[in-house]
Amino acid sequence: MSNTFTVNNPATGETLATITRNSEEEINKALQTGHEAFQSWKKTNAHERSRLLEKWSQLIQKNKLEIATVMTKENGKPLAESIGEVDYATSYIDWYAEEAKRLYGRTVPAHVDGKRLLVSKHPIGLVAAITPWNFPAAMMTRKAAPALAAGCTFIVKPAEETPLTTIRLTELAHEAGIPTDVIQCVNGKGRIVGKVFTDSPLVKKLTFTGSTPVGKALIKASADTVKSVTMELGGHAPVIVAKDADIDKAVEQTIITKFRNAGQTCVCANRIIVHESIVDEFSTKLAEKTKQLVVGNGLDENTDVGPVINEGSYEKIVHQIEDAVTKGAQVLAGAEYDVDENKKCFFVYPTILTDVTDKMEIMHEETFGPVAPITTFSELDEAIKIANNTPYGLAAYFFTNDYRIGNYLFDNLDYGIIGWNDGAPSAAHIPFGGMKESGLGREGGTEGIEPYLETKYLSIGNLID
Ligand code: NAP
Repeated sequence: MSNTFTVNNPATGETLATITRNSEEEINKALQTGHEAFQSWKKTNAHERSRLLEKWSQLIQKNKLEIATVMTKENGKPLAESIGEVDYATSYIDWYAEEAKRLYGRTVPAHVDGKRLLVSKHPIGLVAAITPWNFPAAMMTRKAAPALAAGCTFIVKPAEETPLTTIRLTELAHEAGIPTDVIQCVNGKGRIVGKVFTDSPLVKKLTFTGSTPVGKALIKASADTVKSVTMELGGHAPVIVAKDADIDKAVEQTIITKFRNAGQTCVCANRIIVHESIVDEFSTKLAEKTKQLVVGNGLDENTDVGPVINEGSYEKIVHQIEDAVTKGAQVLAGAEYDVDENKKCFFVYPTILTDVTDKMEIMHEETFGPVAPITTFSELDEAIKIANNTPYGLAAYFFTNDYRIGNYLFDNLDYGIIGWNDGAPSAAHIPFGGMKESGLGREGGTEGIEPYLETKYLSIGNLID
């Protein structure tokens, strides 16, 4: 394998950079350095760590447009979305800069006279992170901020499609005063860097965002050194539109959850399950709005939907559309493509499919593209059955103004994140993560710092003679 790789703009095919892959020896050296740095970083006080995180966030904000432009160039998403992602990424740093100061232990009433029982929280050690290409800034800070706040040292390997944003964020962390061996970035093929991370006894925690098959392999590989793992994996989000729903609101929010980042988000709608009495009105309105979305280069001001990340993604999306159409789905919008002659840039026009059935692949496999398949239900329990019929359990959405229906759906949907009349529920201060094969653990919120902490218990005897 070459010791370099190129980063390309998926909208133009332009080569943006050539990056050197770190050798196994270099990665192991970085792990050693991170482990040694942990011995002093863990002793810094929480207020000092908080101040450094605040400074990091401020520097990212100061360079927001530059970072967002790099992100749009390497990932393809519209510039406005990249700017939004920089804000979302710093919101995690801001949140954990505050949480650093709230790593409370507790005093437990003793069962024996004269004893005092104390519980305290301590950083787990060196943390290794592997991040995906779809949110190159936020997936990094969602892991780095709680790790650093807790007193852990941190090393990240970004996806080879989008390393430039992560490299820039790491530089800014150093500029903010966070020591260079406390937060590090290494580059290389996931399966090679991943093996170095999982084999090393110096890595105490592995945190991963990416596909479910890779997540499963990393969990297995972490067993020999009994590492703590956090896994943010794939999803197959259902959107249930009940018969009483505000259809315009449901259409507007479905567009947001479905077509953001060209449908390449783990929480994006993958199955739209609509009550049979309103499906025609909902589908027609959704298709009308979808046809208005402008597809193009994310740097063009008017662009709503950028390219998909690479040829593999493009082929998977086209295959799912063709499979559905062959099996009887109707195309209300899209199912059109734009590929340049060098086969470097892949645009998929936002697609609405109706008459979708359980026999079609799109109802079972993550699409990771701008395709909305619509199916119907008559009874609410049928909608719940369709929604839960997947190994995934990350995000689900439903639209209803009836509190009884809403509460019933909330109680019965097996999903970690649920949006009720809301297509954008994610935020730094809430626990983000999935059930079933969508992952282990949560990121964000008060829950998101726990995985970076060990609990120690002290029993003091003979306080009274
Ligand atoms: P992926 O193939 O799993 O890649 C993600 C990261 O893992 C990349 O950095 C990749 O590095 C690395 N990797 C690949 N093979 C590896 C291996 N054998 N061992 C260790 N690391 C390895 O996923 P993707 O296609 O980039 O991203 C899409 C997936 O991420 C979707 O399934 C999506 O749902 C999921 N996702 C989940 C969340 C969430 O919060 N739950 C958020 C975003 C995305 P290379 O670039 O070097 O291959």
